[in-house]
Amino acid sequence: MSSTPAEEAARRRTFAIISHPDAGKTTLTENLLLAGGAIRLAGQVAARGERRRTSSDWMKIERDRGISVSASVMTFEHDDLMFNLLDTPGHEDFSEDTYRTLTAADSAVMVLDAAKGIEPQTLKLFEVCRMRDIPIITFINKMDREALDPLELLDEIQDKLQLDTSPLYWPAASGQRFSGMKDLRKGDFVSFRKKTAEEGVQPGPSDRIGMQEARDTLDAMVMDELEEGADLASEALPDFDEQAFREGHMTPVVFGSALRHFGVNELLSTLAEFAPAPRPQTAEKNGQKITIDRADKPVAGFVFKIQANMDPNHRDRVAFLRLCSGEFKRGMRLKTTENKQINIHNPLMFLAQDREIAETAYAGDVIGVPNHGQLRVGDSLSENGDIKFQGIPNFAPEILRRARPKDPMKSKHLRKALESLAEEGVTQLFTPSLGSDMIVGAVGALQIDVMAERVAAEYNLEVVFEQAAYNVARWIASDDPAKLEAFLEKNRGSTGVDLDGAPVYLAKNAWDVGYAQEKNPDLKFTATKERM
Ligand code: GDP
Repeated sequence: MSSTPAEEAARRRTFAIISHPDAGKTTLTENLLLAGGAIRLAGQVAARGERRRTSSDWMKIERDRGISVSASVMTFEHDDLMFNLLDTPGHEDFSEDTYRTLTAADSAVMVLDAAKGIEPQTLKLFEVCRMRDIPIITFINKMDREALDPLELLDEIQDKLQLDTSPLYWPAASGQRFSGMKDLRKGDFVSFRKKTAEEGVQPGPSDRIGMQEARDTLDAMVMDELEEGADLASEALPDFDEQAFREGHMTPVVFGSALRHFGVNELLSTLAEFAPAPRPQTAEKNGQKITIDRADKPVAGFVFKIQANMDPNHRDRVAFLRLCSGEFKRGMRLKTTENKQINIHNPLMFLAQDREIAETAYAGDVIGVPNHGQLRVGDSLSENGDIKFQGIPNFAPEILRRARPKDPMKSKHLRKALESLAEEGVTQLFTPSLGSDMIVGAVGALQIDVMAERVAAEYNLEVVFEQAAYNVARWIASDDPAKLEAFLEKNRGSTGVDLDGAPVYLAKNAWDVGYAQEKNPDLKFTATKERM
């Protein structure tokens, strides 16, 4: 069975799952992998149980989940399609990482808790998807618990997200009375059979029956409610329109219970039916704006994530490269736009439980490129080093701390450790122009805790984070290098450089930034830096 690179790319479906913590993303991920045949037994993606989201737990979750989470991408083949599921960290402190991961996705599954509807984090993540016009499939989870009225839930999506909803199924009650859902297109019924403890929750084909049989066997009141709700929904809500979905204006809706493996097959077939193949990406070549299509010949892609120390025994670093065009072959030599050459001898492919060496990969695929720190988040890689993809920003940190080693002799070691963590792009490391302080920046407080824990676990160092003299960092740029130079010279006490040597203004507060901006109209103080 040989197919062309363009055909291979066309059967890729690269998607992410977005949700508010606790809505069931982990459970759904696990069950999607089960439904897709990528893993055999539930409980292998995550060892869950009672868990609180403290930093140490987070570390433990990462450890327990092992490669599948560290790897950030899970690949499985189903229905003659290759699915690449990109993992996004759920905690809000990791939104920047999530943001970047979403740049590598062609569609997203939005998981809602049926009892809660749209929660704050769902909204934030949704906004990122909207900015990038990422089409969204909605999965309303936990129908086995008391849920909000389904019409109310869909109204909320419409109101809060300005997103038209088109249910593909309609649920028969919820909680104790939950009986299944009607397939609104096929007109039959997917039955929810409560499994006994011995049977456990095993993936398998859905239990589909005719509506007559459903009426004959299920609670009459539940069935009446279902018919009434389904009628109301089809009157009040628009039919599914694939074009509107692709443009990000409409979401198809599937109901289910990830924990009971109900609705998961239906979600997977909805993904297979509607999730788009790798989409064209905007890029720049020789100063011209161009569009890179998945069928284009030259291999090109961008790095959206770096993970250091994936294997504690080797200080390796893996750059996650999302391919956008061409047929990648193991051993290929790709170049960054700064003309750094990377020979990719051992590209990693991430199956649910394993990593493997990828011999070939196509647009839509994510390969792991082991490297020693040459690659950074936002780098574009291509055969000639002439393609630059757009739009992976760094965000200014909202928390700055001065880092020092507990043992003063270990300063150099600590700098190395903080540098390699900063290379992952989640945290920042700034060096002030005066003195030898290490100033770390993070978007959320949890990241500071995680950093301390990782420095201890991976570098065997104790680090102390203290209040810094600054609270705000802004990148400084100017079209006039002399003016920039003059500003830096004049403000040596409140400027420094980031990991890439780019100048930053370290201010006490936002007011100082505003003042500096007013006084220096030729300079730009920015909260994001596009590394492109
Ligand atoms: P995440 O934070 O979004 O990854 O959520 P988890 O997948 O860890 O789920 C949070 C909690 O909800 C866990 O205790 C799950 O067992 C539970 N859960 C997930 N899906 C369902 C579901 O469909 N029904 C019920 N009753 N509980 C669920």
